[in-house]
Amino acid sequence: IGKESFKIKGLVDNVINFVESTLKENNNEFKVIVKEDFSVPGNYDKLKEVLLNLISNANEATKDGLITLKIEKADKLPVEIPDIQKEYLLIEVEDTGCGIQKENLKRIFDPFFTTKISGTGLGLAISKRIVEEHGGIIKVESEINKGTIFRVYLPLHKEGG
Ligand code: ADP
Ligand code: MG
Repeated sequence: IGKESFKIKGLVDNVINFVESTLKENNNEFKVIVKEDFSVPGNYDKLKEVLLNLISNANEATKDGLITLKIEKADKLPVEIPDIQKEYLLIEVEDTGCGIQKENLKRIFDPFFTTKISGTGLGLAISKRIVEEHGGIIKVESEINKGTIFRVYLPLHKEGG
């Protein structure tokens, strides 16, 4: 992922511009909560792709609903990792859409798994790979007819730094 780092607020502003008109098509409200700005070590374009994938999935699953993008410092990780990294950023994409069937939950990150007529099934597989390339973790929580939350945890410091 190289040596670069970028400010998360800049990425969020860019993503908002990108998705605003699409979200309107499904009459979804878009709420963005950025608690504070963070410098993220990582590839801007790849992490932008992750955010766009998660938000378009949320939008495709939701009509007349709410999609929330929230960014804050993670206060704990979803798994125990024996790691010197202590500080992680938490990026949450939450929707009030259709939810994901339990039997599909374990397959959504598989390449080519899709429930959409013209889906590629690649968005989440690619997103997971990008997150893991950054030393991060992606998790999902979903309830049918209630909605879905994707959580992306990204280390805030480079390995060894
Ligand atoms: P695609 O969007 O092309 O289907 P993805 O890899 O992005 O491929 O997503 C895989 C599948 O995961 C989707 O087809 C859908 O069934 C499910 N999915 C992903 N995000 C959501 C979401 N926010 N709400 C409901 N289902 C979702
Ligand atoms: Mg997708």
